[in-house]
Amino acid sequence: MTEKANPKTKFIFITGGVVSSLGKGLASASLAALLQARGFKVRLRKLDPYLNVDPGTMNPCQHGEVFVTDDGTEADLDLGHYERFSGIPATRHDSVTSGKIYQRVLDRERRGDYLGATIQVIPHVTNEIKNFILSDLEDEDFVLCEIGGTVGDIEGQPYLETIRQLAYELGREHTMFVHLTLLPYIPTAGELKTKPTQHSVKQLQEYGIQPDILLCRSQVEIPQNEKRKIALFCNVREERVIAALDAKSIYHVPMAYSCEGLDNEVCKYFGLEAPAADLSKWEHIADVMENPEGEVKIAVVGKYQLLEAYKSLNEALTHGGIANRFKVKIKWIDAEEIEKHGADQYLSDVGGILVPGGFGSRGTEGKIAAARYAREHNIPYLGICFGMQMAVIETLRHVAGIANANSTELSSDCEPVVGLMTEWDKEGARQIRAKDGDLGGTMRLGAYPCVLQPGSKAFDVYGQKEISERHRHRYEVNIKYEALLKKSGMLITGKSPDGKLPEIVERPEHPWFVAVQFHPELKSKPFAPHPLFVAFVKAAIDNSRLL
Ligand code: GLN
Repeated sequence: MTEKANPKTKFIFITGGVVSSLGKGLASASLAALLQARGFKVRLRKLDPYLNVDPGTMNPCQHGEVFVTDDGTEADLDLGHYERFSGIPATRHDSVTSGKIYQRVLDRERRGDYLGATIQVIPHVTNEIKNFILSDLEDEDFVLCEIGGTVGDIEGQPYLETIRQLAYELGREHTMFVHLTLLPYIPTAGELKTKPTQHSVKQLQEYGIQPDILLCRSQVEIPQNEKRKIALFCNVREERVIAALDAKSIYHVPMAYSCEGLDNEVCKYFGLEAPAADLSKWEHIADVMENPEGEVKIAVVGKYQLLEAYKSLNEALTHGGIANRFKVKIKWIDAEEIEKHGADQYLSDVGGILVPGGFGSRGTEGKIAAARYAREHNIPYLGICFGMQMAVIETLRHVAGIANANSTELSSDCEPVVGLMTEWDKEGARQIRAKDGDLGGTMRLGAYPCVLQPGSKAFDVYGQKEISERHRHRYEVNIKYEALLKKSGMLITGKSPDGKLPEIVERPEHPWFVAVQFHPELKSKPFAPHPLFVAFVKAAIDNSRLL
């Protein structure tokens, strides 16, 4: 082991059993929030056993959204939950995959670092995983490490072996294993079944891991005698068999876990004295969500059928609703449906229209039609990344009269108003990309500063001149169309500090039409809603009152 752990830091390893999609990311984020609420300093990390170097090249329909951190890491969407629940910005040190681990091991092998040794999963791969877990830490009280996948997956084995070894090396008083399982409910028998959980724990034990806490997902209350049975068969204390029932919303989960005693049991396990969790901010969020003053319908015109593909967007809209004490009802619309049947039947009953990020040509004409509908019908519009590019193309086509205005991502035979970026500045250094370069990790990624024009709507929304937002794109609106856009009623009100890259456009004559090249949804939190979403939802509410 090359990295050393701070002796006060406790490590909590979270694994999942029985089935996937039980919400391990949420469980980890909620536990972190509870420990924070007791005054502890926490850090959250995700270890994904798949072989992609990062999820950046994966189809969002398979893997859900790609979350981007300030430092430009393309990471698993669970990092979004971590940030939303803990408020701590994640970094490249908080997300790893087997692909990345093997890449590091093989790079070392090529450099000759292993001095002639035979390279093996144990110890070389497991040591690299250990280095990841132990590196870049300061004085954290808790480091929560979530292991992706389900116990029993072949590719997860090196991770289980690593955390077993770490528990041995750091000592059980510094490490805890939390296992998230499912208790299926059989309605015809009226019974909760514990067998899958027993099997899952047996499997963990085969790897030498004895869980300390079982978080049991269940649709119904778990009777005490069932908890007792699970405790006995799984070798876990009864009070550490914790019910994780379906909650009213994800933001109710920290309170629900606390009521079940989760944070108490963690503190007791480590022998830590700490004041009771201060859950007031979660209580406030729950209260607003349960007692909204009204509901507003917002259309999201995208193309991925999977809700997970727009995870942060969905949450940011909820946060915008919370800030306005309104429930946001999202009307998901497939852009291709608009292409087939026209915008009117999908968009005439909504308070606001949002066109989110996207890649490739499928559905783009539908997105352009949605931007046009918003412009022509004075409906509040928020365009994000691709949604900004579509809005600019729409204006240049239908107001400025450039019929073949398009993005070079979508057509080679067009007026290229949106084009491939091959050079830009990052922190004073020039970034250069080749047209036919690698796809993985090569976009304009992460936080970049943006300067806002005083007097603009964007300036008004943010209340400051310079902002920093996260990016993930390869194409960019060409600044040379600025004058023509202005003539067509669209102003570029946010730019990169060198003035070369348009970051925000808006229509001053429209009630609320703002489109941004970055992804504001990635920085929104339930207790710190993003100002663009707050303002957009407010505009949509005001517009609905007129409907
Ligand atoms: N496909 C566009 C680009 O690469 C937009 C990307 C996005 O919406 N994230 O520029």
